[in-house]
Amino acid sequence: MNLHEYQGKELLNSFGVNIQRGIVADTPEKAVEAAKKLAEETGTGWWVVKAQVHAGGRGKGGGVKLAKSLDEVKSISNDILGMMLITPQTSAEGKKVNQVLITEDVYYPGESETSEFYISVLLNRATGRNMIMYSTEGGMDIETVAENTPHLIFTEEVDPKLGLLGFQARKVAFNLGLSGKAFKEMTKFVSSLYTAYIKSDSSMFEINPVLKTSDDKIIAVDSKVTIDDNALYRHKDYAAMRDLREENAIEVEANAVGLNYVDLDGNVGCMVNGAGLAMATMDLIKQSGGEPANFLDVGGTADAERVETGFRIILKDPNVKAILVNIFGGIVRCDRVAQGVVDAYRNMGNIEVPIIVRLQGTNATEAKTLIEESGLDVISVTEFQEAADRVKEVLA
Ligand code: GDP
Ligand code: MN
Repeated sequence: MNLHEYQGKELLNSFGVNIQRGIVADTPEKAVEAAKKLAEETGTGWWVVKAQVHAGGRGKGGGVKLAKSLDEVKSISNDILGMMLITPQTSAEGKKVNQVLITEDVYYPGESETSEFYISVLLNRATGRNMIMYSTEGGMDIETVAENTPHLIFTEEVDPKLGLLGFQARKVAFNLGLSGKAFKEMTKFVSSLYTAYIKSDSSMFEINPVLKTSDDKIIAVDSKVTIDDNALYRHKDYAAMRDLREENAIEVEANAVGLNYVDLDGNVGCMVNGAGLAMATMDLIKQSGGEPANFLDVGGTADAERVETGFRIILKDPNVKAILVNIFGGIVRCDRVAQGVVDAYRNMGNIEVPIIVRLQGTNATEAKTLIEESGLDVISVTEFQEAADRVKEVLA
């Protein structure tokens, strides 16, 4: 589950991580109230209006703007709220902005220079350990830094039995070129950040930029937080942070009925049982010149009702030009699935795309007969390759 910037910052702060203070608002009037409140609490005279969408690169897309008066807070919020924000990480049509975060301005001038850093915490799958990835090159996207100046990216791996040790936090602060108060602040920042990552069962934190203010405080200016879905049952209170408006509508609907569905860009809808077979089916579709429109594992209980639900979900995607049903009957009986296909076809009445069905395993022969005798426009095959060839034919 991904969080909005403001939610991520609140979560970090609850574990003692210093953050740029802010208040979320969904109207320009509330934005002004938020700005006044921040001024009282922090003494700030300038504010930043930040679009809250699940995508990075908002600054580049015009979704992060500095406001130097309450009037500007109002007019900028008015412009940003409701806009379709296009960033390098959104689709071409962009993402609708429903909320803005009004923050204190933290780039004020002072005794020393401000500096921006990059810090993330994530799992290194190759070593099976969490690591802190960090760089002096904050504020830019890390992919660019990795490409042009890879030597400016450091990593620190954490032993799961020991946790993050003091010397490791100090090494981060040292490599970031800090000294004095900023050095101490950074070691505290990194330690609390790691604690937050572990305790919240997150799978990714990306803080870009982490700012050293002109008075040597270290604070999170941005936050990208992903909570591990498999651990959400341990954090019932996090459910309220889910913003379904940010998620793919078809996936939300499929997940609500217990289907394992992932929306993809292609044109061939897939209904498969078992994740392994689903992956193999997607490969096969690609080899035959098609592109999978989705990943769908209907699971081990692929009965008639589930098959029909699967069809309804797949057909919500307007790009689907053909559907490949690939079921291996072990516990699942193929004739039941075939009945599901026939029922769905009849009940829905409006399936216009060709359907290729490969049913193999328990009661496969009965299944094939059932489909052939139904008189419906369903292509029944037995071999994997044959299925792919037929997909190619119908797409031609
Ligand atoms: P992103 O573009 O989606 O990564 O959004 P960020 O939260 O990282 O903000 C983008 C940029 O806005 C940052 O890199 C900063 O340069 C700038 N910014 C953020 N907060 C402040 C602030 O308090 N004052 C000023 N002047 N600039 C800020
Ligand atoms: Mn950022």
